[in-house]
Amino acid sequence: MTKRALVCGAGISGLSAGICLSQLGWDVTVFERDSELRTAGAGLNLWPNGVRVLKTLGLGTQYAEISSSLNYYRTFSSSGEVIAVDDLRNWEDRYGASLSGVFRRDLSRILADALGRDRLRLGRQVVSVEQGDSVVCRFANGEVAEGDLLVGADGINSIVRDCVFGYHTFSSDGLVRWRGLFDLADVDVDPLSEAEVWGQDGHFGYLPIGHGRAYWFAAADGITQDTNAVVAHFSDWKGSPVPDLIAATDPASIIRSDLHDFVRPLPHWSKGRVTLAGDAAHPMLPGMAQGANQALEDIQALGTVLDSCSDVEAALQVYEQVRIPLVAPIVQYSRSLFDFEDQSELTSGHRNPLFDRYDRFVERREP
Ligand SMILES: Cc1cc2nc3c(=O)[nH]c(=O)nc-3n(C[C@H](O)[C@H](O)[C@H](O)COP(=O)(O)OP(=O)(O)OC[C@H]3O[C@@H](n4cnc5c(N)ncnc54)[C@H](O)[C@@H]3O)c2cc1C
Repeated sequence: MTKRALVCGAGISGLSAGICLSQLGWDVTVFERDSELRTAGAGLNLWPNGVRVLKTLGLGTQYAEISSSLNYYRTFSSSGEVIAVDDLRNWEDRYGASLSGVFRRDLSRILADALGRDRLRLGRQVVSVEQGDSVVCRFANGEVAEGDLLVGADGINSIVRDCVFGYHTFSSDGLVRWRGLFDLADVDVDPLSEAEVWGQDGHFGYLPIGHGRAYWFAAADGITQDTNAVVAHFSDWKGSPVPDLIAATDPASIIRSDLHDFVRPLPHWSKGRVTLAGDAAHPMLPGMAQGANQALEDIQALGTVLDSCSDVEAALQVYEQVRIPLVAPIVQYSRSLFDFEDQSELTSGHRNPLFDRYDRFVERREP
C-alpha cells in the first residue's frame, strides 16, 4: 500500500522533501501556514553541495535558468583595498557545481512546480501533533491529516519540534542582518562575482541572483533597528562599491532579520514517525551561507534512508545518526565566521577563510 507523508512547512526544506518523497512513491502533502509561498529574504547563496541535491531531484536545468553562477569571490576593505580574490572558475569540475546566487522567490517557484501544486495546501497552520500507529496533524482551521510519516520542515520556530521535543533555547546575542535588492544595470560591479567588504564597524556582501538582479547582506556594529541609520552607515564606506549599491537599492526592499542558533544543538531530530529537517532541526547563523544548503542535504539523506528501509521509525533513527554529526561543525563555524571583527585569518592568507571551511567541513566532512 502507498505510504502517506505529511510535510509541515513549504520553505526550501518542505518543498524539496515533498519532491523527494513523491519521487520515491510516497503519497505526499505539504502543508503551509501562509496563504502564499514565502518570498521574503531576497537572495540566497547556494553552494555546490546544495546545487548537487537540486540536480539529483532533476532540477539542474531549471536551477541554471533562474540563478547566477559565480566566477570570483572578492574581498575588500571598507576603504576599497583588495584583500583577497578567490578564483572559483574550476568549481564545476572540482565540486560538480558552481557557487551560485538565486532569488528566493524563483527557487520557491521551481520547487513548487516540481512538487505539483495539487500536493501543496496553503493556509494550513499545524497546531498540534500526535502519534501512535500513525501520525496526526491538527490545523488551526480545524482540519486534521493522518499519515505514516511527518517531516517537520516548519523553520526555526517549529511547532512540530516543540510538540515532539519541547521548547529549545535559542542564542540571544542580539545579532541582526540587513538585506536589500538592486539591479546590476544600475551599478558598476562584476556581474559574475560575489564580494564581501569588511570594515572595523561592519560587514557587507553582495552577489548576483539571476535575471540581472543582485542582493546585498550586511551587519553594522551597533545598528539593530533603524534602516535609515544602516543606509547612512554604509553610504560612508567611500572607496568601496558599497555606497553606489546602497544608492541603487529600492528602500522598500530593505529587510532586517534577527539571527539565532540554538544554545546547544538538538540531541535528536526523530521520534517515532516524526522527524525534522532544515532550520527546524538546526538553525544556524548565516556565516557560511549553508542553512538552505544543509536543508537540501537533509532531504537527500532522508530520501536515501527511507528508500532503503521500509520501517519508517528505524529509517528516521538512521537519518538523525547520519546528519547530526555532519551538521554540527557547520553550525559551529557559521557562528565563528560571523564575527567580522576577527579579520586576522583573512588578512594573513589573502584568501577568504570561508572557502577553507567549506572545503573541509562541507565537502571533505572533517569532524
Ligand atoms: C540573513 C540570512 C541570510 C541567509 N543566507 C543564506 C544563504 O545565502 N544560503 C543558505 O543556504 N542559507 C541562508 N540562510 C538560511 C536559510 O534562509 C534557511 O536555512 C532556510 O531558508 C531554511 O529553510 P526551511 O525550509 O528549513 O525553513 P523556512 O524557510 O523558515 O520555511 C519554513 C516554512 O514553514 C512554514 N511554517 C511555519 N510554521 C508552520 C506551521 N505551524 N504550520 C505550517 N507551516 C508552517 C513557514 O511559513 C515557512 O514557509 C540565511 C538566513 C538568514 C537569516
